Amino acid sequence: MILWIAHITIIGFFTFIIWVTLGAFKLKPFQQLILSLGILLLVNTTLEDISPLLNTITDFAAGGKKFEMPVQGEITKTYDPPHHHGIDIAIPEGTPIRAQADGKVIKAQWDNIYGQVVIVEYQNGLQALYAHNRDILVKEGYPVVKGTKIAYSGNTGRSTGPHLHYEIRIKGKAVNPFLHIK
Ligand SMILES: [Zn+2]
Repeated sequence: MILWIAHITIIGFFTFIIWVTLGAFKLKPFQQLILSLGILLLVNTTLEDISPLLNTITDFAAGGKKFEMPVQGEITKTYDPPHHHGIDIAIPEGTPIRAQADGKVIKAQWDNIYGQVVIVEYQNGLQALYAHNRDILVKEGYPVVKGTKIAYSGNTGRSTGPHLHYEIRIKGKAVNPFLHIK
């Protein structure tokens, strides 16, 4: 919702600026209309590209960093796109992985790379991915509350030792998880 308001405000602002700027060129009305629409389309495409950033900003506006670390353990690999889209936290196999807030399970399945993987969608479209689990305890579509046990950690998929691979995604794109962790 907040993201929508931000988007519409920004698009409205750009539309106004484009219209006023083009007005200075004294174009024919239909030229001004077509040029405005073209530029707006460009701006909107750019907005899509920066939407993770936008979402982070609106997220801060909505109360800032919400999440605790998903589990306690040593961070053995940090966020380093395009090589690594999340963080690795070394934990013993069988450590409970719990929902970090209220939300909904949008993926709970096997993946050749992520192994037994769970993705939970929280507020503002923020998604968290928990990978390489031994056992998944939830199903797609399940609602969760903060603290719901969603998996037992493991060493499945492309993994070289027991750990949790943790990602935060916005609209399916991985972002720096530390922007959202206290
Ligand atoms: Zn990883």
